[in-house]
Amino acid sequence: MIIREEIIAGIERRNGSQPEFVQAVGEVVDSLGGLLAKRPEYADGALLERMVEPERQIMFRVAWVDDAGQVQVNRGYRIEFNSALGPYKGGLRFHPSVNLSVVKFLGFEQIFKNALTGQMIGGGKGGSDFDPHGKSDAEVMRFCQAFMTELHRHIGALTDVPAGDIGVGGREIGYLYGQYKRIVNRFEAGVLTGKGLDWGGSLARTEATGYGLVMFAREMLAAKGDSLDGKKVAISGSGNVAIYAAQKAQALGATVVTVSDSAGAVYDPAGIDVELLKQVKEVERGRVLDYAQRLGGSAQYLEGARPWGAADVDVALPCATQNELDEADMATLIQGGVKLVAEGANMPLTNEAIDAAKAAGVLYAPGKAANAGGVATSALEMAQNAGFAKWSFEEVEGKLDQIMRDIHSASLEAADAVGAPGDYQVGANVAGFIKVADAMLAQGVM
Ligand code: NDP
Repeated sequence: MIIREEIIAGIERRNGSQPEFVQAVGEVVDSLGGLLAKRPEYADGALLERMVEPERQIMFRVAWVDDAGQVQVNRGYRIEFNSALGPYKGGLRFHPSVNLSVVKFLGFEQIFKNALTGQMIGGGKGGSDFDPHGKSDAEVMRFCQAFMTELHRHIGALTDVPAGDIGVGGREIGYLYGQYKRIVNRFEAGVLTGKGLDWGGSLARTEATGYGLVMFAREMLAAKGDSLDGKKVAISGSGNVAIYAAQKAQALGATVVTVSDSAGAVYDPAGIDVELLKQVKEVERGRVLDYAQRLGGSAQYLEGARPWGAADVDVALPCATQNELDEADMATLIQGGVKLVAEGANMPLTNEAIDAAKAAGVLYAPGKAANAGGVATSALEMAQNAGFAKWSFEEVEGKLDQIMRDIHSASLEAADAVGAPGDYQVGANVAGFIKVADAMLAQGVM
């Protein structure tokens, strides 16, 4: 039987140092012990070795001209990881920390997340080390056009369908789609998701990841006879996922007491004013410092701080980036009485933090289950595009809610089946893995 060390050694031998990718693979492989013991056929045919090797990896130069007339050079990536269940699907991240290891870890996670949604989507991810912070709209547009000038030859509604992620929101998707359309001379809406509502976008896609995360947390609490009503919630980040997680959590009766960005955190016992946060972040492209200064009152800005030590909270929803919540942060949360941690971001908890949460009996949901609402709704956008249809907000949100309930129950059932009752991490990995593995076995060696 293939063991973790062999898989990791193989990755390191072929790729050199890729710490985030190794972490993501280790996390999945560690969850599969119970399944592989019961179903040894999943360890045959070099299935795991094939799964950790992307079907295709694309890296390219992105040269563009800034407002001062200087040529800038960035690197673009698209990892087409696994197409067993459908066209490659996954976001584009624009952030200076993006490198091959980060894009591969995100692409690998995406395979199993997409499988969990029950939609026909394979796994992929891409991005660039371009930093949109502080760039003018014209610079962002020229970068997106240069990026798409290469990317367009690799994507398509039935081939590979990118979307947003950190640093890629509605503005960037607009510029990317415009350039794609100009090059191919077709209104092929299904090639990108997260589009504007008048040109192929889906209602509720903007809200979907944050809303879905809170729906998943709601189900976890409901399974214990509890609810979000009256709970104190800490959220990190102040981007797309964080904003709509805060909105949904407060709609369900919780009080969200923190949001953050890479410069600091806001703590407000009175609860975050989501409408003001949206105005500052989405319209003015400001920082959480600007939000706190504008709001005044009980809102405190904690420079350089992460949000986990700000208060005793019942629920923590990390919604910023990978490895943003470590063992020490988890110890603080546990000391404060945290009951539930669900990942809005991808891999925000270190493996040590996950172990500490589980050991303390804290309910823990991995991102591939808890934040799958975003990509699930992207698949609903693809379905609308394919049928030239437009569904109402309520219809899309209703489908999202059902998908999150289904992922929740599938994770619990899979965990039970492999002897790890109540373990959402094992359950999500096993349930996602089985779908991908069965499809790969059925489709032959490739
Ligand atoms: P946004 O770019 O909208 O927001 C990202 C937020 O995280 C910002 O507040 C940003 O602060 C903060 N952040 C980013 N990097 C760091 C860092 N190194 N340290 C501290 N804070 C940081 O991205 P999204 O909200 O879309 O994505 C957030 C997370 O959710 C990511 O992990 C993403 O992969 C995941 N995700 C997103 C989905 C989506 O549909 N958008 C779907 C599923 C998962 P600052 O502005 O200072 O950088």
